Amino acid sequence: MPLRLFNSLHRRVEEFTPIDPGAGSVGFYCCGPTVYDFGHIGNFRTFVFADLLRRHLEFRGHRVNHVMNITDVEDKIIRQVAATGLGLAEFTGRYTEAFLADLGTLACRRPHHLPRATEYIPQIIDLIRRLEQRGIAYRAADGSVYFSIQKYRGCGCRYGQLITLDPEAQRRTERVSGDTYDKDDLADFALWKARVPADGAVSWESPWGQGRPGWHIECSAMSMALLGPSFDLHLGGEDLAFPHHEDEIAQSEGAGLQAPGRPFVKHWVHAAHLLVDGKKMSKSLGNFFTVRDLLAQGFQGREIRFLLLGAHYRETFNFTREGLEAARSALARLDATIAQLAERSGSSAATSTAVDSPFVAAFGEALDDDLNVSKAWAIVFDWVRETNAALAGGTLGAAESAARLADWRRVDGVLGIGSRPEEEIPAGVQALLERRQVAKAARDWATADAVRGELKALGWTVEDSKAGTRLKRL
Ligand code: AMP
Ligand code: ZN
Repeated sequence: MPLRLFNSLHRRVEEFTPIDPGAGSVGFYCCGPTVYDFGHIGNFRTFVFADLLRRHLEFRGHRVNHVMNITDVEDKIIRQVAATGLGLAEFTGRYTEAFLADLGTLACRRPHHLPRATEYIPQIIDLIRRLEQRGIAYRAADGSVYFSIQKYRGCGCRYGQLITLDPEAQRRTERVSGDTYDKDDLADFALWKARVPADGAVSWESPWGQGRPGWHIECSAMSMALLGPSFDLHLGGEDLAFPHHEDEIAQSEGAGLQAPGRPFVKHWVHAAHLLVDGKKMSKSLGNFFTVRDLLAQGFQGREIRFLLLGAHYRETFNFTREGLEAARSALARLDATIAQLAERSGSSAATSTAVDSPFVAAFGEALDDDLNVSKAWAIVFDWVRETNAALAGGTLGAAESAARLADWRRVDGVLGIGSRPEEEIPAGVQALLERRQVAKAARDWATADAVRGELKALGWTVEDSKAGTRLKRL
């Protein structure tokens, strides 16, 4: 079965096929963070989902060209820059680093390109000029430049590809900022914002005077600069479908850079929100947790990832501490099976086969079905149960254990859960182990047993096997 995904453009599940099968890679763009603070795990739900889709495409043999923008100029950033007295690059650099570290904690593969908006000002200006030349963008009296939806429609383009609602009515409900009064039409949106005193040093020279780009145009300019005027997949959280993505389509298709009949983006994929008590997790509601908050509470990145991967991307779900604890016990079950397989397989290596085992094949097919993670996890845990039974029955030899382990590694190449991190053994515990080794070598069994008792009191057990002695948490 080919990979099928819900395409927000047509509001139905469709087969994924690259726009240009001969291109050799899949153009993949996901709107990234606005770097004015640490990201919360609601934001990371979207990024973990993007990572799952990228990994699954790679599992299916595609080469993915993954772009994620970093929005490093925007109203909230400018306010924070003024409040902290830091330079723009220094301020946003700190949060960009923190974001990338958190992405790593959640085992997300690093996007191949991480363009920052401030590094693409010339491309942004070029795009706005092109829209202006085509009569779709106009300059307001204050030096701001707006996108005219009426003119865009007049060129035969369609505004409202991702939404069915009346965009004018929707936009009227948006907060109207102080610098929007010069618009011809309330539905129009800013491409370039003329400098105002509150912007401080954050502005660039342009054909329209000093100013800065609007948010929507940044993504159009950066995605097309790196992936070309038509590309395969564009992702983001569902809140971005309107106006952000609708405006991206309008700007990009309005510039007319695509070959005739080709869209800006072939497949639009949106992730539902992570909720807390039924409400969207967000900075403004104050109901959020950062990755760092959860690490400080003793949770691991892989437990957070497991939780975020538990629900289908088009379904909202509530984040709870109990959910994280359930993730911990599910992972413990998985880890125990994998550890046993590793032990049983010893030094045997699996012979690689051209054909996927039934387990790997069923897992892949579940994800081909619009990333059906519930089905995929059920397949994983059925396999865990069945493997445990085989292990308990003593029927699993080294070669078969190695083959199962190789299957798991292939599946985990998509899930990205990884193995349990090696626990650090405290120095005192290590010293006791060494004392026991000395006692054993001297055949002083009384001391060896006494030390084993001391270790047990500290929560550790010693396992002796042919391979050597190992400390394990009780
Ligand atoms: P921002 O940094 O606010 O621009 O958001 C970065 C990404 O996180 C966007 O794709 C948002 O749609 C997404 N996002 C924000 N809040 C949530 C949430 N509660 N659940 C899922 N995704 C979210
Ligand atoms: Zn974007």
